[in-house]
Amino acid sequence: MDGATFDLRGKTALVTGAGGGMGLAIVERLARCGAALAVADRSAELADQAARCAEAAGARASAVPGDLASPEYCDALPARVIETAGRLDIVVNNAGVMRRGNILAASDQDWALSMTINLEAAFRICRAAIRAMTAGQGGAIVNVASCWGLYPGPEHLVYCTSKAALAAMTRCLGRDHARDGIRVNAVCPNEVNTPMLRSGFALRGLDPDDAVAQLNDSVPLGHIAEPGEIADVVAFLASEQARYICGTCVEVNGAKPVF
Ligand code: NAD
Repeated sequence: MDGATFDLRGKTALVTGAGGGMGLAIVERLARCGAALAVADRSAELADQAARCAEAAGARASAVPGDLASPEYCDALPARVIETAGRLDIVVNNAGVMRRGNILAASDQDWALSMTINLEAAFRICRAAIRAMTAGQGGAIVNVASCWGLYPGPEHLVYCTSKAALAAMTRCLGRDHARDGIRVNAVCPNEVNTPMLRSGFALRGLDPDDAVAQLNDSVPLGHIAEPGEIADVVAFLASEQARYICGTCVEVNGAKPVF
């Protein structure tokens, strides 16, 4: 098998942003580890694509599409998974949006959208999932934050702020709910080769392949992350092998600092 494997048989995992670059890799990895998947994305088409990816990797999968900007959708999502899949053991809050620019370029909409999707949606899903997990068998939550939230990079004011808050929320939840048998951690990548990154280059009129090749030179380990390299760490954090890791933000950055 390509990539890491951990035993997630008998577990059900909810993944948001499941149809995106990192989302599909996380879905594929968790499926290969034996988990059943509930895959969420904003359109039925994206969620169905993620469900097919999970099934191709041998997992049972259900699509639970919806807009994370809807508080009702987020609040109800964990219960919906338990209703359809029978249980909920793992939650990966992976969906995110990136608005670029400094504070003078930031519109009210940039701020509202970023805080809603990157932070409030995760807050609502964590709250509902922790309620269900506390009443059940415990569980593991992995939030996809960013190195840019831990060490703010230039010209991404709103994005960095939202991810910093997500990292702080992760640490708080890890401490507050460890005794409930719930481990909450975050994975913090630097640059990952996904549509989110590549679209930024395209917007600036650069060829994404050339720009990624150039970026690879800036990483001590020799290349920016491929989605599977982040997905491996997500699967690890979700697994029993990470049973003593809780309330931590794991940097997965090939030794590249943010600058
Ligand atoms: P992506 O754009 O490929 O995927 C993002 C996913 O989130 C998409 O599937 C999208 O449909 C979903 N989403 C966005 N808004 C939504 C909404 N309102 N309702 C429901 N779903 C919605 O991006 P990616 O690179 O795969 O990013 C995944 C996560 O990784 C994000 O949280 C991102 O901030 C984080 N991250 C990415 C990088 C990188 O360089 N790509 C680095 C660090 C962290």
